[in-house]
Amino acid sequence: MRKSKWLIFLLTIAMIFSLIGCQSKDSEDVTGDGLFNPGTYTGEGQGLSKIKVEVTVTEDKITDIKVVEHNETPGVGDVALEQIPAEIIEYQSLGVDIVAGATMSSNGIIEAITQALEKAGADIAALKKVPAKTVTKTGETIEKETDVVVIGAGGAGLAAAVSAHQNGAEVIVLEKMPKVGGNTIISGAAYNAVDPKRQQLQGIEDSVDKHFQQTYEGGDKLGKPELIRILVENAYPALEWLESMGMEFTDEVFTVLGGLWPRAHKPVEPLGTGYIKTYMNYIDNNSGIEVLLNTRATELIKENDRVVGVKAETPEGNLIVRARNGVVLATGGFSANVEMREEYNKIWPSLKNLKTTNHPGATGDGIAMAKAVGANLIDMEQIQLLPMGDPETGSLSGNIEQAVENRIFVNKQGKRFVDEGARRDVMTQALFEQEDAFMWVILDSKNYPTGDVKNNFNETIDELVAAGRAYKADTLEDLAKQIGVDPDNLVEAVNKFNEAVETGGPDEFGRTLFQWKIDTPPFYAGARVPTVHHTMGGVEINEKAQVLDVNGNVIPGLYAAGEVTGGIHGSNRLGGNALADITVFGRIAGENAAKNK
Ligand code: ADP
Repeated sequence: MRKSKWLIFLLTIAMIFSLIGCQSKDSEDVTGDGLFNPGTYTGEGQGLSKIKVEVTVTEDKITDIKVVEHNETPGVGDVALEQIPAEIIEYQSLGVDIVAGATMSSNGIIEAITQALEKAGADIAALKKVPAKTVTKTGETIEKETDVVVIGAGGAGLAAAVSAHQNGAEVIVLEKMPKVGGNTIISGAAYNAVDPKRQQLQGIEDSVDKHFQQTYEGGDKLGKPELIRILVENAYPALEWLESMGMEFTDEVFTVLGGLWPRAHKPVEPLGTGYIKTYMNYIDNNSGIEVLLNTRATELIKENDRVVGVKAETPEGNLIVRARNGVVLATGGFSANVEMREEYNKIWPSLKNLKTTNHPGATGDGIAMAKAVGANLIDMEQIQLLPMGDPETGSLSGNIEQAVENRIFVNKQGKRFVDEGARRDVMTQALFEQEDAFMWVILDSKNYPTGDVKNNFNETIDELVAAGRAYKADTLEDLAKQIGVDPDNLVEAVNKFNEAVETGGPDEFGRTLFQWKIDTPPFYAGARVPTVHHTMGGVEINEKAQVLDVNGNVIPGLYAAGEVTGGIHGSNRLGGNALADITVFGRIAGENAAKNK
């Protein structure tokens, strides 16, 4: 009895001590000490590639985040990999915004950091609730004045800014997104130009007249011939202009999807990053061009029939920038604006549920602003779709094709259905007629001699296969099984294609662009669907990139270049012509705005 009393006493004491112990631990957490178990933790997330991080924490602070592995797109995804860790550390919060235009990379890096912080014992829900912005609106309207105001920091806008500066102007560029580049930086980036050096070395016959004819006829003769003339004649000089500023293109030209002829130049740097880097290097190395990010132009200021400035919104408040010489509108197209697409589309089935290859800023703001000052809009119903969208995102990423000549498209039955070297609208129309408007791109290992060869989205074929975004097999029968198409049909489609490669075509679909047979394993397949890509209509301009009103008269002080304009590509833009267009007309718009004193 006495013994058991002692035992109870001792147990009670032990319990009290253990309770005190527990309480003190709990209270530590409640007072904010010990938010984390100090140390360095790793985490992994999935962006376009695998993203690995190392996160270092003290008891109460996230002190360092290192990205130790990733293969996100330079100039696009890697912007998120810099910005998001910096914001998480600055605000000690997981409630940070994703970086516009880099959704997958943003989600991937947040996932990786979250995983590391979980391992560090963090309260993730609480960290997500911490506010991650401290912008204060002043409520004041700031006024600035310069020679030339450029609206939009994509390819056309930056070309205009640099060109205006080279012609003696001081420039302010307004960009609504938190980064420069627009669609240009995420584009396939092929640049069409008749090239006296490269094409000759490859034995390719071409001429400026042929480029003109293909552009004019490829757009069903809807484009304005005088603008197309400017485009084709200045494409090569503008390419040399880019090269003079340090931009590099590979030595060989190729035929880009829907480009109709081997005159596409491929930048050495992935996607459109080379163009944007080239302009930003110029801007960084020369004073006189100011780029304002997170600054959305809302209205053109017109006084006495002349455009004299721009109203804009910034996170801090309103801004008015007055332009002594001119305003260049370079806001891009409206592929990412579903309402505008629905308003103007008359040609395609409803585009409401289609995804887009475009960045989220492609909302047609410039078209609305120009219309409000009397600009004429042309060809607004001409919306270009591509048959090459990622089924999940609509983006061009994950596209396994390397060159038009060396791949075929098959439908869900494993049958070919179109000339894969045709115009983009022809191919997309044919794709809409297939089951689920869905197809597979089929090619062989001559396109990917090793697993680490990249597509033009900077993705290796091995990564795409590992992520389930492409399929690989040693036989066509096995490939067919993996992708769920009839093996006999796929084998027959490839055999017939190979016969046509031997004869040089035209084959049963009228295809004439061939290079290699599909005969060298491993074989690859990648899924694709229609996606909204380019809006060919827009603001009408003349050869000087001056904006015209509804009566065909110039609106003094207002210039436009790039996808915001209409009247060049007609009903169908040739692949590879957009980069030439935005560079040529951006350059012209900048020069003329600068000289418009
Ligand atoms: P382009 O190929 O014609 O240069 P891009 O899409 O590459 O077209 O670039 C257009 C740029 O204009 C994008 O960076 C986009 O975010 C920007 N932009 C669009 N609307 C506005 C606006 N209202 N104010 C400022 N920038 C804008």
